Amino acid sequence: MIDATFMSSNKANDSLSKVVAKVIAIDGPSGSGKSTVAKNLAVEMNVLYIDTGAMFRALGYVFDKEKLVIEDSEKNRHFLNNLKMEYGLSESELIVINNENLTEKIREHHVSKLASQISQLPFIREYLLKFQRSLALDRVCVMEGRDIGTVVFPNSFAKFFITASVETRALRRLNQLVENGDNSHSLEQIIDDVKKRDETDMNREVAPLKKADDAELIDTTNLKLLEITSLLVKKIHGRAQEFGIQL
Ligand code: C5P
Repeated sequence: MIDATFMSSNKANDSLSKVVAKVIAIDGPSGSGKSTVAKNLAVEMNVLYIDTGAMFRALGYVFDKEKLVIEDSEKNRHFLNNLKMEYGLSESELIVINNENLTEKIREHHVSKLASQISQLPFIREYLLKFQRSLALDRVCVMEGRDIGTVVFPNSFAKFFITASVETRALRRLNQLVENGDNSHSLEQIIDDVKKRDETDMNREVAPLKKADDAELIDTTNLKLLEITSLLVKKIHGRAQEFGIQL
């Protein structure tokens, strides 16, 4: 696991964007299977796994809890600049803000919407961009999100855009909620939520969800996630050889 604490005063290493990054960038919409694939990949390759969605979720949760109206204001910038965010302290402490472990809370259904709302704010994205770059440093890792291949690490050596049909994605999300003991949502409601979230994620002004030109498109609708993992492992080894990256 990574052990990283971040205060906004930390300087991100901007020079990262000028060299080939050892980051395996996994982007795609919610429910595409990208989290499962990214986690499997990290285990299979024995490298770090960085879930950037967890960071947006955690900030959405905290802003809501603090009753901060989600907007770019002096008060909110000040709050963010004085916040302590920790990622990957351990498996059960994936994301900790101001010493509060949010790892489980951020998986509640209503937090998805808060994350999507907060992710539209440029100052939030700027903050997390620095945080995400500071976590990756110069090591091989799997970073999963919406804008990793386009904005955070446009120079990553291996990029994949994972997608699936809306119905498949909604069904996966519903199964996930049921597994977590939440039976209060219908498939129709989840399909509706997935569509709305896609709409917001793809149409926001800053860092919208979009496939990088040089990312490989992987449609998981009719594929088993484990099959995809082994396919990607092969592709990644090929790319690493091409770029002289030691895995
Ligand atoms: O991946 P996950 O569903 O946990 O992400 C929650 C929300 O955070 C997404 O719907 C998206 O709005 C936002 N997000 C983002 N950029 C990322 C990761 C997540 O905007 N790199």
